[in-house]
Amino acid sequence: MKLSYSEISTYQNCPLQYRLRYVECRPSLPSPALSFGKSVHDALEWLYSVPTPDPPPLSEVVARLESNWDGEGYSSPAEEARYFYQARSALELYYRNYVECAPGGFSLPAAVEYKFRVDLGFCDLTGVIDRLDRLPEGGFEVVDYKTNRRLPPAKRLREDLQLPLYHLAAEKIWEVPVKQVTFHYLLLDHRFSYQVTPNRVEETLAEVERVARCVEAERFEPCRNNLCPWCDYLEECPLMAGKVQPRTSSHSPALDIGQAVDELVATHSEVSGKLVRVEGLKKIIADYMAEKGLKRVGGASAVAYLDEDGCLAWEETSPGS
Ligand code: SF4
Repeated sequence: MKLSYSEISTYQNCPLQYRLRYVECRPSLPSPALSFGKSVHDALEWLYSVPTPDPPPLSEVVARLESNWDGEGYSSPAEEARYFYQARSALELYYRNYVECAPGGFSLPAAVEYKFRVDLGFCDLTGVIDRLDRLPEGGFEVVDYKTNRRLPPAKRLREDLQLPLYHLAAEKIWEVPVKQVTFHYLLLDHRFSYQVTPNRVEETLAEVERVARCVEAERFEPCRNNLCPWCDYLEECPLMAGKVQPRTSSHSPALDIGQAVDELVATHSEVSGKLVRVEGLKKIIADYMAEKGLKRVGGASAVAYLDEDGCLAWEETSPGS
């Protein structure tokens, strides 16, 4: 038997959903969140796949995002364009903080998007480690990118099995000490890091073994939970059938495809034009401050300044302040 983190967490959430998705292989509907996450992960993987120690320019990372953009699951071209804009902004923020102004300079990770399969004794664990970094103070760090809009409570992040499992996998694969594990929330530029103790690894293994035994015994009872309204199998669920309107494929058959193409192109060029203007304004302000030797300059509603890494930052000011 093999289990991935997604499979384990699906089983923990609802064993019936696990059976429908992973045993019976019923397809799940495409969704903006999945496509968006895949596209951003791909661009970051590409950023670190350069064969030299120098990073590719931001424009090439954005070009990669554009060329490998996954357009599945969006309900309209306008929605897709909004997601694209957000993905591009997240990459720009990432590039600024972890490439241009990276503490200690840009460095290549020890591993990127590493697909693994390790033997746990009672089953194999499979997955993909987004990034493995060498820490300056010694040891390694496992990083997993998240593209959620909101930050889950810290307690939930600490109790989640993914990072302890990836910690365990990394130590088995590379035989290195993993000192820290991190969820990196890209849209919020927030890193949630902690250390995985041997006790936590044991608890995690015990839970994975419990799930593996239940799957082997074919225990697939439905379990109602907060995510039921978004379940792909509402119509087949004995607890929920007929109680909630099932989600339909977001590709509406009534959509006029010609209009969709026109709207996509128009929205995309509007968004791209604004981003080019943002970059131009940043350069004008930074050049002006360098020429005049200024650390801060203000407008009517905002102040721009150089942060401690020498990058241009800004904050809005309240009227009259
Ligand atoms: S609707 Fe809820 S209880 Fe039913 S299969 Fe889906 S997740 Fe499980």
